[in-house]
Amino acid sequence: MHRAWKSVPSDYAVACESVDDIKAAVDFARTHGVRIAVKGTGHDYFGRSCAPDSLLIWTHPMREITVHQAFVPAGAPRGTTPVHAVTTSAGNRWLEAYRAATAAGRYIQGGGCTSVGACGGFALGGGFGSYSKRFGSGAAGVLEIEVVTADGRIRTVNRFQEPDLFWALKGGGGGTFGVVSRMTLLSHPIPRTDGWLSGQVTAHSDAAYQELIQRYLEFVPGAINNADWGEGVMWRKGVNEMELMTAFLDLTTAEAEAVWAPLLDPLRARPADFTVETSFTTQPFRDKWNPVGKSGAVMDDRPNAPDGYFWWRGNGGEVGAYWGGYAGRGIPLACLSGAKAERLAKAIFAASRTSLVLWQTNKALAGEHPEALRRDRQTSLNPAVFHNAAFVTVGDWVQFKYPGVQGHEPDAALAQTQMDGVNRALRLITAATPGGGSYTNEGDFFERAWKSEFWGSNYARLARIKSEYDPDNLFRVHHGVGSDMPVRSV
Ligand SMILES: Cc1cc2nc3c(=O)[nH]c(=O)nc-3n(C[C@H](O)[C@H](O)[C@H](O)COP(=O)(O)OP(=O)(O)OC[C@H]3O[C@@H](n4cnc5c(N)ncnc54)[C@H](O)[C@@H]3O)c2cc1C
Repeated sequence: MHRAWKSVPSDYAVACESVDDIKAAVDFARTHGVRIAVKGTGHDYFGRSCAPDSLLIWTHPMREITVHQAFVPAGAPRGTTPVHAVTTSAGNRWLEAYRAATAAGRYIQGGGCTSVGACGGFALGGGFGSYSKRFGSGAAGVLEIEVVTADGRIRTVNRFQEPDLFWALKGGGGGTFGVVSRMTLLSHPIPRTDGWLSGQVTAHSDAAYQELIQRYLEFVPGAINNADWGEGVMWRKGVNEMELMTAFLDLTTAEAEAVWAPLLDPLRARPADFTVETSFTTQPFRDKWNPVGKSGAVMDDRPNAPDGYFWWRGNGGEVGAYWGGYAGRGIPLACLSGAKAERLAKAIFAASRTSLVLWQTNKALAGEHPEALRRDRQTSLNPAVFHNAAFVTVGDWVQFKYPGVQGHEPDAALAQTQMDGVNRALRLITAATPGGGSYTNEGDFFERAWKSEFWGSNYARLARIKSEYDPDNLFRVHHGVGSDMPVRSV
């Protein structure tokens, strides 16, 4: 990322195959005063899974998955009701975990990208998937964690055993409290159908575009800020096009169309101002992770890739990305009506002149299902998320540029222009959304108020737990909890 971090390989690496390997690596690093980097997939936007002059703890080879019909956390009192669950080891990707759950007729809440880790930075930092308003954040689904802490102890933590550390691990950020070797995740009955709204609304003037943005903002609270809906829209940089990319669960296409009619019908009635193209589709949910016949799925044809591996075309656009700028911002529900909506619409319109603006309702928890909300309240996520209707990402990048690699050097002037455009967009949206906070996994690398923006009122408790379990600050990552605390040198 421009002016932020470079992908630098560690000097040494341990390809861990078991929790004992992780323990041996942690013990070695502690004894010899060596910097640790922990990597599952390397998807981190802040580069927190790599560090110069470090020992890499690489969990990629750890790929066990167990499906439980009746899981009871360790140390639970007699009579605790067993639940359906899935245990995933540290190297698994969401695709593998989803497939195991689907085969058992179950669903676990992970991320949309097939290659993000199912037992790493995603849930440790919070983690939001398309259906988080129905099933909660990734952190809310965690029932138990096995973790190697800085003292080299292998601990099994849950709400009955070391509940403070368990709470901190559910949202306090990856690479901070220890190395996780496995996580057990609550599973849910598989939804009946998975639906998708695609298409676009084109506005034929700037005034009409700003009106469209405001109409959309005002449409969200009453129509789609609930457990049936997720994902959102994208306002593309420099053009008056709003791309529709919205997910829905267990609704027929007719039911979904009826929800959108109050927004779309009046726009269709004004062809001089707007062109509206939409497509509502559904599929049985059990087919969701089957790529066969899907134009949006790109098969992994690399030699030795596991059978049936794929990624979504949208995520493919980020492969080899060199980010000029990247940041994210929570959007309070209170900003989606009246004068505040008008102000925010103006801000988004202006922001979209210099940056892509991606709006996702599933990365905020106002309108969340009450059962999921109960579980989310027991995580260490920034409490601002409960008042937010959506999360906005601003960003600009080029693909296949690698600093230091001849012929693939990024263009510094272009990256700076992108960075300036993204920063301007972020400033505009932030000014219109007081109290929205941000999200540690998808925030701004340069965020100055990172403690309050990423964790809000939970930061003080997180920092206390960090000092208790890692007093020498062995695990530290950019803008992680306690990363500014002293480091013991050997
Ligand atoms: C293409 C793409 C799509 C994404 N989609 C989503 C999305 O839909 N929703 C969402 O919320 N986020 C999404 N993200 C952001 C994602 O949540 C973060 O990048 C997250 O940090 C990835 O975790 P990882 O373990 O896969 O990656 P890594 O880069 O391996 O690790 C990320 C962080 O977690 C730490 N870590 C990894 N494994 C462990 C472990 N076993 N124990 C302790 N610490 C560990 C690392 O040290 C690092 O600090 C996406 C990112 C990308 C690049």
